[in-house]
Amino acid sequence: MAAIRQLDDALSNKIAAGEVVERPAAIVKELVENALDAGSTTILVELAEAGLQSIRVVDNGSGIESEDVETAFLRHATSKIQTDRDLFNIHTLGFRGEALPSIASVSHVLVRTSTGEGEGVELQLEGGHLKKRTAAPSRKGTELVISNLFYNTQARLKYLKTSHTEAGHVSDVMNRLAMSNPTVAFEYVHNEKQVLKTSGNGDIRQVMAQIYGRSVATKLVTFQESSLDYQVTGYVCRPEVNRSSRQYLSVYINGRYIRNYALAGAILQGYHTLLPIGRYPVAVVQIEMNPTLVDVNVHPAKMEVRLSKEAELGALLTSAIKKAFQQTQLIPEQQQPK
Ligand code: ADP
Ligand code: MG
Repeated sequence: MAAIRQLDDALSNKIAAGEVVERPAAIVKELVENALDAGSTTILVELAEAGLQSIRVVDNGSGIESEDVETAFLRHATSKIQTDRDLFNIHTLGFRGEALPSIASVSHVLVRTSTGEGEGVELQLEGGHLKKRTAAPSRKGTELVISNLFYNTQARLKYLKTSHTEAGHVSDVMNRLAMSNPTVAFEYVHNEKQVLKTSGNGDIRQVMAQIYGRSVATKLVTFQESSLDYQVTGYVCRPEVNRSSRQYLSVYINGRYIRNYALAGAILQGYHTLLPIGRYPVAVVQIEMNPTLVDVNVHPAKMEVRLSKEAELGALLTSAIKKAFQQTQLIPEQQQPK
């Protein structure tokens, strides 16, 4: 008998789940990103016990066509890309078609969705298997409820930290999504307590005030600069508002939160010598670029990206921030040579 066999879908989804949805915060990120890709303007996220009991995301986006709902839970099924050309020209947050099947393979899922035209659909799945399909109201948008998370992967469940720690990760995710999408009204409720609520009026500074407090928001300096390839905009706090970790520095490329050591370094360099050593700013930095200049398909969670002209972008960031501080007189303008 042959010893090498292809794994069935259920098992390969569970393996993918280990990378894509390693904890509740990762599930929240994937579901909210789907809601954003669907063009939602209001997104409600409700968790019980840091998501270990349940995660509910309700959006008012496009909804899923009735005949597509089952397909959305199949591995590598996506409406966002079709050809390998698309893969290097990504305009959406998702594209791998992995989140829904991965999440569904390790939980119980209830999905209600409607495009607003005709009847909606409700599906119930357990471990990725369809248990029930019924009609749902035709309210446009999608609601997903994830429960019994990791019920069939006990090892994963044991690896999770306390509810407090997991809730902290979820807050981080929600904050980052809210800051990069100021035109979307977010509401995040944990154990029936409202944690975050944004107005969706487009003012990033207001979102930052909600997350970091009014006193930080009054100390923000805005910057904006572009080159042929890039446009960088955002808010950096004045150097006296500094923190002991990098986690208050949020960098986005085309709306996607990313972690990049070199770019973070370039931003710090913009502060010149204003920041004490080992201290980091509170900042929201938005980078817009042609999607062909960035490869987001490096990591399953898509948090690391590969940039083709990283040094050029870094220099632009440094100069944009330095200029902003020069304009506020924090950094003296360079002496003109006589
Ligand atoms: P991806 O986002 O990479 O395409 P997912 O597994 O996250 O893959 O979702 C599969 C598909 O289901 C998406 O491509 C999209 O068409 C649909 N979908 C998922 N969530 C939503 C939502 N909230 N609103 C509308 N469509 C959705
Ligand atoms: Mg997705």
